[in-house]
Amino acid sequence: MSATQETVREDGIIESVSGPVVTARDLDARMNDVVYVGDEGLMGEVIEIEGDITTIQVYEETSGVGPGEPVENTGEPLTVDLGPGLLDSIYDGVQRPLDVLETKMGSPYLDRGVDAPGIELDKQWSFAPEVAAGDVVEPGDVVGTVEETVTIDHKVMVPPTFEGGEVVSVESGEFTVEEAVVELDNGEEVTMRQEWPVREARPSETKKTPRTPLISGQRILDGMFPIAKGGTAAIPGPFGSGKTVTQHQLAKYADADIIVYVGCGERGNEMTEVIDDFPELEDPSTGNPLMARTSLIANTSNMPVAARESCVYTGITIAEYYRDMGYDVALMADSTSRWAEAMREISSRLEEMPGEEGYPAYLAARLSEFYERAGYFENVNGTEGSVSAIGAVSPPGGDFSEPVTQNTLRIVKTFWALDADLAERRHFPSINWNESYSLYKDQLDPWFQENVEEDWPDERQWAVDVLDEEAELREIVQLVGKDALPEDQQLTLEVARYLREAYLQQNAFHPTDTFCPPEKTYLMLTSIHHFNDEAFKALEAGVPVEEIISIDAAPRLNRIGVQEDYEEYVAELKDEIAEQLREQY
Ligand code: ADP
Repeated sequence: MSATQETVREDGIIESVSGPVVTARDLDARMNDVVYVGDEGLMGEVIEIEGDITTIQVYEETSGVGPGEPVENTGEPLTVDLGPGLLDSIYDGVQRPLDVLETKMGSPYLDRGVDAPGIELDKQWSFAPEVAAGDVVEPGDVVGTVEETVTIDHKVMVPPTFEGGEVVSVESGEFTVEEAVVELDNGEEVTMRQEWPVREARPSETKKTPRTPLISGQRILDGMFPIAKGGTAAIPGPFGSGKTVTQHQLAKYADADIIVYVGCGERGNEMTEVIDDFPELEDPSTGNPLMARTSLIANTSNMPVAARESCVYTGITIAEYYRDMGYDVALMADSTSRWAEAMREISSRLEEMPGEEGYPAYLAARLSEFYERAGYFENVNGTEGSVSAIGAVSPPGGDFSEPVTQNTLRIVKTFWALDADLAERRHFPSINWNESYSLYKDQLDPWFQENVEEDWPDERQWAVDVLDEEAELREIVQLVGKDALPEDQQLTLEVARYLREAYLQQNAFHPTDTFCPPEKTYLMLTSIHHFNDEAFKALEAGVPVEEIISIDAAPRLNRIGVQEDYEEYVAELKDEIAEQLREQY
């Protein structure tokens, strides 16, 4: 994030201070200009102009700041610094690197008025050109690469704001992000650093229908409610239901090239967990540190509210930048409720007309503007890339009828409903299979059919039908008891139990079960289907249901998840199930 002191245009005077909201008089400013407030120069952004009174939201604590102090306008919108060094970094909500701030101030608590560039300005990167003198380049075109981390090659692109032209000179070797590496005939100089205003989507050629799943390695997601690369999803759930674990599982295992994790306003200790944990984790597919493909934005609840408002924009802009390089990016925001609450707080300080439950009337518009920036794109440089956006929602008391959940539901196409009852029963992930949905299912089926098995959609539908039937039968069981049900329905309940316990449950903390590739997901489901078919054959042949469900082999279905050599295990298990059932008739 930057706004350099040299570009300061005009001074104003503080009129009033109300928490994060400051008004100033006589400031020559436009909407969304970044300003420096008070003697300490706290960073803020213009959010309202009426006559000669300008209203500013300040990204830092304003205690002690008072009327009469100066306000300086930079004349520039809030921007992010983009370039090598974004990965393996941890930022606050206005892209100040937390480790840099820590060394500057000697403590992990952010001091006021401390500014730091989003990417290191004096670090040398090895630039390998991909264009030569005489080539013609347009905005967005890749002019070279930098090995940013062990996993990711950073593509250096002509900024979207350039005109483009013929390359007159190209450098190769070690440079800082501010040194020109490519010069064009119109005088434009391409460096490894670009800036982009956070509230504006980066340009793209077209948005396409996403047709590839973002594989998460979580059975209930991939197998039942898949999200597409470029898709949107919401994870609402009450406290303790598993939002954070689900987001972390996605950050670790999702088959995206880049992960942007926005920790927004959760309690400080939860975010500390992320900040402490993530740098220790390994990327299971490459063995490299997970941070080598990750950018973390941490804005805890004790950090100023306005920075919480901006952190999701900072995150999505970084995501779009890597998308432009042709990467698949997954952005997790935990939690969008805290973001909405920040909007609510600022709106009430502005004395705006409140909407539902005190949220501003523009809540729905802001949420949709955010999720709109996700998608599968053809980029301006001809590559394809995607941004998938996954937002946790923490409705107070777990009540999904509140405005943030409801407005999010109208926008996102995948809904993973976490359920307090399931969590209490230790059914994890506690995603409610009756309430959740994915509108991507049909468009992703061809991928699963081609890459896993032809009957993937049929098998999933079979499981959905059994679970639906179970839900109906359970109501009857509550009235009359299980034994009053006909034998075939008792057997259906048993099959449904295996679907729940073996297939839908998955232990995030078991070294093998934590990640389940789609092939294994398919085999687990079809093993249960196999048990179902053999069991119903036995029932038709006159075997009593108690004997069918008490065969030794059946409970071993619950152990497939923890098998590393699952193919062999499943093949043997299927044979045994058939054998044990058939010998009874
Ligand atoms: P939330 O973020 O919704 O408050 P958490 O994600 O912190 O909830 O989950 C609460 C607890 O539930 C975790 O500490 C963990 O013990 C358990 N849990 C959640 N998901 C799983 C899972 N997939 N596997 C095992 N345990 C889980």
